[in-house]
Amino acid sequence: MNVTRELFDEVMVPNYNPAAMVPVRGKGSRVWDQEGTEYVDFAGGIAVNALGHCHPELVNVLKEQGEKLWHLSNVFTNEPALRLAKKLTDLTFADRVYFANSGAEANEAALKLARRWALDHYGEHKNQIISFKQGFHGRTFFTVTVGGQAAYSDGFGPKPGAVEHASYNDLASLEALISDNTCAVMMEPLQGEGGIISPTPEFVKGVRELCDKHNALLIFDEVQAGVGRTGHLYAYMGLGVTPDILTTAKALGGGFPIGAMLTTKDIAASLKVGTHGSTYGGNPLACAVAEKVLDIINSPEVLEGVKHKEQLFRDGLMAINAKYNVFSEVRGKGLLLGAVLNDNYQGRSRDFLVASTAEHLMVLIAGANVVRFAPSLIIPDEDIKEGLARFERAVAKVVNG
Ligand SMILES: *Cc1c(COP(=O)(O)O)cnc(C)c1O
Repeated sequence: MNVTRELFDEVMVPNYNPAAMVPVRGKGSRVWDQEGTEYVDFAGGIAVNALGHCHPELVNVLKEQGEKLWHLSNVFTNEPALRLAKKLTDLTFADRVYFANSGAEANEAALKLARRWALDHYGEHKNQIISFKQGFHGRTFFTVTVGGQAAYSDGFGPKPGAVEHASYNDLASLEALISDNTCAVMMEPLQGEGGIISPTPEFVKGVRELCDKHNALLIFDEVQAGVGRTGHLYAYMGLGVTPDILTTAKALGGGFPIGAMLTTKDIAASLKVGTHGSTYGGNPLACAVAEKVLDIINSPEVLEGVKHKEQLFRDGLMAINAKYNVFSEVRGKGLLLGAVLNDNYQGRSRDFLVASTAEHLMVLIAGANVVRFAPSLIIPDEDIKEGLARFERAVAKVVNG
């Protein structure tokens, strides 16, 4: 069969518009396409391939588990799921874990849990969910409605109700909406899709205080920011604010689909037998891989390395900017960074992405004005240097038309 990019348009639903080249192989932070052309990967599968492509220890654990046990459903439990849950609870504020298969599913569980917890403890009136404009929480109908871009949830019929949106980094806007009818506030501790926006320390602390005042649960969506991405195992650890529920996915599986919702014993008690579930959640293949990902990332070498590599990116991007004057700032934390286009390049992030691909570099965007970088947390320094050299050529091309 002749598999080409053209085949995509013939057989796939048109909700994506992938690049012209078709990748076939990856190793570390390098990827090769059908023609054998090599790319440097600064995209990391959208903050998923936290240990690069085909990390030998992940390949091994997947092969080993693949010869033991693939799937059971939750009619039975399994060793990899229990080991992973034990480690997640030992390493975080949480004492209970629910496994899902994606970020959206982990968030769906978090939102349903918050509603059920409020019903159990306070009654039906306490059902309001507050989240933030530009926030992103996934594409199921509930999570996309909670997300802060109406364009993503419009046009699918009646939306789940009692969902409202405050402005990120604007405590007064949250204060104006929150009340004793609020069951949960959901936020990203670093907005990813929305443009790589960090919360101010006063804002996160203030959100926590308002939740406490109104007996509302604070849900941190760490699907993109978690698992070492910011240089902390979870982003909340670097903010000094602890959520009541935390969701994690993307990097957790290093490329194998998995999601998880973490919470306390008391809150978890509201998801009684039969209240929620998933056929694949806690799948032994996914959990075996995720356990290895967690073991590798939760080490001083990897987490310290993220901070060092962040500096390489920042220095390199600022050097490019000194020559070409395209960015107003580089923002974000750890290896979730955004180069923000200045006034002369508004709305043109896609041009930089396309030019980068032509220079054999994979990057991401976060909206129309931000070029986003979310590479492997262990990307070799040489690959950062080489990728930035390619990015400089791409920037030069955009600047010179
Ligand atoms: C990617 C993302 C999601 C959705 O995860 P999926 O695995 O695509 O369902 C949810 N929240 C945040 C913050 C994300 O970045």
